Amino acid sequence: MIWPPTFLCLGLCALVAPVETKRRCPVCGREPRPRFRYCPVCWPFCNNRHKNLPIAERVRALIEALDSENGGFRCCYTGMLLILDDPDSPWYLSFDHIDPRKSRLAVCARQINEMKQDLTGEEFRTVVLALSDYMVKGLPLDPGVIDFVCWPGRFEMPAPASLGRSPPSPKGCKVCRMTRRPYSIYCNRCRSFIYRKPEHVARSEAMIEGWDAARQGFVCKYSGVLLDHLNRKSPWFMTFDHRFPGKKGFLVVCAAWINYLKSDLTDEQFRKMLKMLADRFRDGAPFDRDALGL
Ligand SMILES: [Zn+2]
Ligand SMILES: [Zn+2]
Repeated sequence: MIWPPTFLCLGLCALVAPVETKRRCPVCGREPRPRFRYCPVCWPFCNNRHKNLPIAERVRALIEALDSENGGFRCCYTGMLLILDDPDSPWYLSFDHIDPRKSRLAVCARQINEMKQDLTGEEFRTVVLALSDYMVKGLPLDPGVIDFVCWPGRFEMPAPASLGRSPPSPKGCKVCRMTRRPYSIYCNRCRSFIYRKPEHVARSEAMIEGWDAARQGFVCKYSGVLLDHLNRKSPWFMTFDHRFPGKKGFLVVCAAWINYLKSDLTDEQFRKMLKMLADRFRDGAPFDRDALGL
């Protein structure tokens, strides 16, 4: 004889057993692996490795960037399909805070994310167009074109300290011809950028190249804007950029924010990149990443 509770137990099990439904990845709709919520393609971008970025925002940004025709994700700035399997590639998928002060995310290439840094999406578009116009057409760049709303330390800028102006003298500073500091071949201002600094010879040469005697200041190599040599917190503070990253020497002077924008691109790659991005922003031209040789 079968014990009656056995029937009861079997009946209950049939009632509570889950109905086997086909599970789908919430991002792309592919079939996930057993016990996983996301498919193997989306998993690397939805796991805990990016736990500082809210998962709901990541999923929303991924869905927005999804190209359902070929199952890939497109960069929101260049429009090209991103690399999903090689984290070392400059075109690997990364999450960008469109406005660094807010939590909304977008999907873009790692390289573009590195270039954008403290700029908002709108500022990035504006400066790319303005820099490209300066480089290609020679149109002067207005330093007030963006406000650098997310520039670090922007709200605690110290009042610029005056170093004083001294008249040019025949045996003046090697860079700017102003009166030398005693026992030095440079004036106080130029010395502060060169003395005891790495690659000081290359620095001195870059400053001589960047010095504009008529405007009495240093001119940014990439934007033609007069640089700030006093306020270290200004985005226009004078910095030194390696024309060929990883190679010593060959320095040029440029604004701090442009140094970030150039990231580890060579001079030629940087100009090409700006031109291609500007064409993309202006007319939606296709972005040919192979042309950069990265
Ligand atoms: Zn998926
Ligand atoms: Zn000087």
